[in-house]
Amino acid sequence: MTVNETENPFLDFTTFYNIIDGELSSTPDNVRHATNPITLEENPAVPVSSIHDVNRAVEAAARAAKLWAEVPWEKRVSAVREYADAIEDKAEDFARILRMETGKTTMWAQHEIGTCVRYLREFCELSLHGEVIEDTKERKIVTRYTPLGVAVGIVPWNYPVQLSCVKMIPAILTGNSYIWKTSPYTPYCSLKFAELGQRFFPSGVLQALSGDDNLGPLLTEHPNVQIVSFTGSIPTGKKVIESCSRTLKRAILELGGNDAAIVCADVDPASVAAKIAAVSFCHSGQICIAMKRVYVHEAVYDAVLAAMVEFTKTLKVGSGNDVYAGPISNKDHFERVKNLLADIDAAKLTVALGSTKPPSDLGGYFLVPTIIDNPPDDARVVVEEQFGPVLPLMKWSDEADVISRANSTNMGLGASVWSRDLDQAERIGKQLQAGNIWINTHAEIGPKAPFAGHKESGLGVAMGVDGLKAFCNVQSIYTRPADGVAQY
Ligand code: NAD
Repeated sequence: MTVNETENPFLDFTTFYNIIDGELSSTPDNVRHATNPITLEENPAVPVSSIHDVNRAVEAAARAAKLWAEVPWEKRVSAVREYADAIEDKAEDFARILRMETGKTTMWAQHEIGTCVRYLREFCELSLHGEVIEDTKERKIVTRYTPLGVAVGIVPWNYPVQLSCVKMIPAILTGNSYIWKTSPYTPYCSLKFAELGQRFFPSGVLQALSGDDNLGPLLTEHPNVQIVSFTGSIPTGKKVIESCSRTLKRAILELGGNDAAIVCADVDPASVAAKIAAVSFCHSGQICIAMKRVYVHEAVYDAVLAAMVEFTKTLKVGSGNDVYAGPISNKDHFERVKNLLADIDAAKLTVALGSTKPPSDLGGYFLVPTIIDNPPDDARVVVEEQFGPVLPLMKWSDEADVISRANSTNMGLGASVWSRDLDQAERIGKQLQAGNIWINTHAEIGPKAPFAGHKESGLGVAMGVDGLKAFCNVQSIYTRPADGVAQY
């Protein structure tokens, strides 16, 4: 079945297909269902792609990439802009199915879709020009950026569409074709995004595959894929790059984090506590760049802890329209966070607010925002990426010491410093080993700024002009006059 606007003016948000070579494609003999983490009901059937589906998608992507590479930049930009408008038109439907698969509250599901629309438009404001390195009578050197060919984006379940948009749009704008490997937990909104995209891009430029845990390796191993842009956990990222190395395909890795926030002595405790808690407990902590360890100067520790407890009490958890945070998105991760919470009990850490047990009245995979008062630096909740609604606050007194504690991790995604003294904040911030440093804010990102992880949090760059270059080959052209003297 082909998918264009004339034949199919309305997206059907109840049946879900792979998108291969401009067509809706199903796997009638092999389907799976993810679970709604709010109700624990089975979500609709989605395809389980086989190697046959992967081969068809990669062949179509390779054909499409050759033609798409010849399409002028401005036309690619127009297609992306029209796609953004169409997503905006269907924002309510997309938010509804995103909620069904991630458990996001209405507000945060709408926020993710709205962010996708904004990102698409902002990516269109970037441009990637070749560079003139030298231009003399004797010689001209020009560098240009050419598309790699077939790009694969592999995404996690926490922001399944937003995290694909930061791969898909740079790949498509720079003239590549893009295969969207959806998360097994959250394929629904992604498949519909790709289906809608068929109205704006030629067949094979944007495709999407759903499947189980076997699908990712089929794509990373495929010899006709030129680049894999992966977002997910550090252990899986290591497998991805190992697999990519066999065919020497490019890989961009956006991996886990354990962001530290350093709160200085001069802050307004109530204001800073509220800002930190609002980020940390958004989407029940399932955000790679949420702060996961908070170091508070001893002079304001008690005040910040008390203010954070009071503010966090106002953050309602549940499934209604007026709640701030929903459940943990899937059973596997629910079990993982519960295991971490059990360790808090076993280590007899002090729980300042919340609970290490799921609430009895909500059903679903719910956990409540939980604040841990001054655990030791080697507690699991401090050392591990909790990716859930539990936040440890620790005391500090010496600047060099707190910087060293913040840096004592294999992860380096983001970090923030909170102070009225911007010189102090900048001095501390520049010593933190992370790809994104925020001062008096946290988790602000956008298409125009490069996003990268230090240490094991990532490899390569997403977003910004560097993120466009990541989907390109670099080609340097050296030209001398035909009658000039050769120089070696
Ligand atoms: P995950 O690593 O388990 O899975 C991510 C994706 O990889 C999924 O689509 C999965 O199906 C696929 N996959 C699994 N095994 C694979 C393999 N061998 N080869 C190829 N693909 C494979 O991660 P998750 O649980 O979905 O997501 C949570 C993690 O993602 C957290 O660690 C979080 O910090 C991280 N994350 C990072 C960022 C970032 O920008 N750095 C953003 C969001 C989430």
